[in-house]
Formats: sequence, C-alpha cells, structure tokens
Amino acid sequence: MSSSNKDLKIYNSLTSQKEVFSSINNKVVGMYVCGPTVYNTVHLGNCRTFISFDLIFRYLKHLGYKVRYVRNITDVGHLEEDTEEDKISKRAAIEKLEPMEIVQKYTNDFRNVLGKFNLLNPDIEPTATGHIIEQIEMIQKIINNGFAYEKNGSVYFDLKEFTKKYKYGKLSNRNLDDIINESRLLQGSTEKKNPQDFALWKKASHKHIMKWQSPWGYGFPGWHIECSAMGHKYLGKKFDIHGGGIDLKFPHHDCEIAQSESVYGENPANYWIHTNMLTLNGKKMSKSIGNSVFPTEIFSGSNKAFSKRFNPMVLKFFMYQAHYRNTLDISNDALIAAEKGFEKIKTLINELNSLNESKENDFNVNEWVNDCYNALNDDFNSPKLIAKLFNLNKIVLEIKNGKKNIDSKNLKILKKYFLIFYSEILGLYEVSSNQEKYDEILNLLLELREKERLNKNYKTSDYIRNRLSELGINVNDQ
Ligand code: AMP
Ligand code: ZN
Repeated sequence: MSSSNKDLKIYNSLTSQKEVFSSINNKVVGMYVCGPTVYNTVHLGNCRTFISFDLIFRYLKHLGYKVRYVRNITDVGHLEEDTEEDKISKRAAIEKLEPMEIVQKYTNDFRNVLGKFNLLNPDIEPTATGHIIEQIEMIQKIINNGFAYEKNGSVYFDLKEFTKKYKYGKLSNRNLDDIINESRLLQGSTEKKNPQDFALWKKASHKHIMKWQSPWGYGFPGWHIECSAMGHKYLGKKFDIHGGGIDLKFPHHDCEIAQSESVYGENPANYWIHTNMLTLNGKKMSKSIGNSVFPTEIFSGSNKAFSKRFNPMVLKFFMYQAHYRNTLDISNDALIAAEKGFEKIKTLINELNSLNESKENDFNVNEWVNDCYNALNDDFNSPKLIAKLFNLNKIVLEIKNGKKNIDSKNLKILKKYFLIFYSEILGLYEVSSNQEKYDEILNLLLELREKERLNKNYKTSDYIRNRLSELGINVNDQ
C-alpha cells in the first residue's frame, strides 16, 4: 500500500483542468517557483504561497521523484507599475541604505521566516543580479529573432511582432486588444513602439547604482527576463512545473512564456501551478495596499487584530485547511479555531503510542491510508488530507473506549503512515531552538535514569548521574 506516482493529478493553469502528472524524465522533476522581491519584509500572504509549494515539493519527493526545486530571489528589475522605478532602488533611497544592503536585509528576513515554518530549502536559489550575462544573452536572442527592439539604451519586447506568430496571454486568457485597451490607461513610456510592450532591459541614469554594461549601454534587466533566463539555465528549455502566486499569471508568467517562445519556440513548462491569495477582510494581503500582517507579529502576539500569539505550525495548519487554489481569509477567530484543531492532531502520535493493541482488528488501516493518498493525488488536496487526520482522531477515541479494535500489525502501519502524512509531507513538526532541544534531551536522560533506578538497575542510573555530574549537572533524586 503506497501511492503510485501515476495517480497524481495536478491542476494545470495552462489548460484550466486537472491533468495526470507525467514528468519529462521518468523519475526526475524540474520545478521553478518565482521567489520574493526582497525590498520589504515578507507578509503572511507571501508565506502562504511558499508554504503551498513546500507541500508540493515534499509530496513529489515522497513519491520518489528526484526534484530540482529552483526558487529565485528578485534583487533587481522589479519595477513599480506606475512609475517604472526599480522597487529595490526606491526602497534603498527611503531607508538610506545601499540597494545591496536592502537585498541582504530582506533576504535574511525571508529565509528566517520560512525556516520558522519548517519549509525545505530549494535546491538552487539564484539571484537576478548573479545572472546578468544570461539575461543579456537571452535579450540579444529575442532581438535577433525580431521580437524586441532597442530604443535609447532600453530594450522592449515587441508584442505586435510576437502576436503575428504566437498567441500572447495564454495563462490569463487575455488577448492583445484587451491589453492594449488596459495599457492606454497606464502612463506609457513614449519610447515604446506600443504602450503594451514590456521592458527587457532598462537604461540606467548615472545616479542609478544597480547597473551593468550591456550591448545597449549601462542598464539593468526587466523583471520577466530573469525568470526565463534562470529557469532555462538550471532546468533547461523545457521543464515540468512552473509556479507562483495567481497574481503572477499576468503579466509576469504570460511574458515569460512569450520570451521563451520567441527564443526556443516553446512554452518553458508543461504544468503551470498558481496558488491563490491570502486575504484580510476579503482583500488580498499586499505590500502596496498596506494591509500586510507580518509573521513575527503573529508569533509574538504584537498585532492588535489578533488576541494572542500563535505559533508557526498553527498558521501552517490553518493554511493547509484550505486548498491552495482557493482564497483564504485570515482572522483571529479562524486562527483560534485552527489552534484547537491542531492541538487534536498534534497529540495523535502520543495517543497512537498509548493505544492498547488487541487480537482482533476492525479498523481498515489500508483504506484510511489510501484515502490520504487519494487526497494528495487530487491536486495536493490538503484540506481533504486534514479531514482524514481528524477522522483518525475520532477512531482513536473509539479504540480507547473499546468500541473499535486494532491489532499490532495494523497499529504499526497506522503509526508509520500518520508520521508520513503529518511530518514528512505536511511538515507540521515543531522546530525548536537549540536551548529547547537541550532541555528535551536532558529530560529524556533523566527519564531514562529514573526508569533504571526504579528497576533497581543502579549501575546504569549511577553511571548517568556521574556523567551528568562531570558536565556540571547535579541530579537530585527528589
Ligand atoms: P513578491 O515578493 O511580491 O514578488 O511576492 C512573492 C510571492 O508571494 C509571489 O508568488 C506572489 O504571487 C505571492 N503573494 C503575494 N501576495 C500574496 C497573497 N496575499 N497571498 C498569497 N500569495 C501572495
Ligand atoms: Zn518569476
């Protein structure tokens, strides 16, 4: 009883349907997820997206795939929509820091926060500034193929030319006319042939710090080209999964597809996965709207909208109670409910450990395990999986009350799979600091010693006491 990877279905944004997952290379998966723009503290919305991809990453690994997970750091080129100013440069001026100090500060914050949520690190975390040459090369190829033009030291993607050969807007299902109508409203740059053309390279003024020499003079890359260049470099022309938040479908991902098609003639990824937004009072949590809730405020209880502190696993559990393709609204009541639910699941392993085995068995463990796999295979349906964990909680109570029986073989299987789903795939184990770990290990030693002492194994109990005493820890039997 285990899941076959042939059963996994993924909702592909490209076709708007669930498809059976089939990787390009038998047991290998290449996955690219757009990472953060490190100009600000990450908010819980950003975290939700990376938490959603952590489940996907963990489950693919569990199925036996060798996954190469690439998640970039955008440290240059993400422009403000209205003013086309680089977000990092703008923030550096506000904080009176070097742009690279801003990048370092918020990259540290990002890693620190994701670590609190127990997210596995990606295999490669490339930065845009570390891949300027690759981006310049790709832009040059787009120009050579006739889909981009240089104007006053900047390079723009020529959407009118592109749409003569390819369809633009495959993910967002927008056509060029819609986009032309929308972009007239924007304060367009006059040097573009058409206002909807997007920047591949921007000329930098001499006061601009983040700039590089290029065939078009000093400048810096646009945001969309970095993901195309880095995805191609580490995962090849065609890879399995490309993901990001749903707000990146347009323009970012539609532009990425256009860039790849204009160089390699094809869409870079087979499956496009988009995670839905975390909202606050029904509105998307966003840095620009200013309704961000920051993880540290929730962990410390300093956000006034929340009545108490919540630990990272409660937040993660709360997020996994919704499917990644649905929006999720955060509130104090919702977190309190999630905390109650999580307590029940968290203690399950202890409950399972303390169950009495019987000779008979009338709990169908195989069916329970298969239901869990079916949930995950159904487009990583975490709420369905969590419902199965709650269901187990009920069954354990029944076993305790003698209404149901489980034998030793089945109990062993059940414990094994509970840990697989709870720990390995949902990653809901709590991370503790070194001090907390030290305390736990010390308690464990004392517990063992006490057992030995009560069993009158004084040789072992004295040995433990003496060794601890050598470390300066005096054990008092009382
Ligand atoms: P950014 O740093 O703004 O580029 O965002 C990093 C990631 O977080 C992207 O994949 C976004 O789509 C995602 N994101 C931004 N806001 C939210 C939100 N409110 N809920 C979920 N994901 C979000
Ligand atoms: Zn990207």
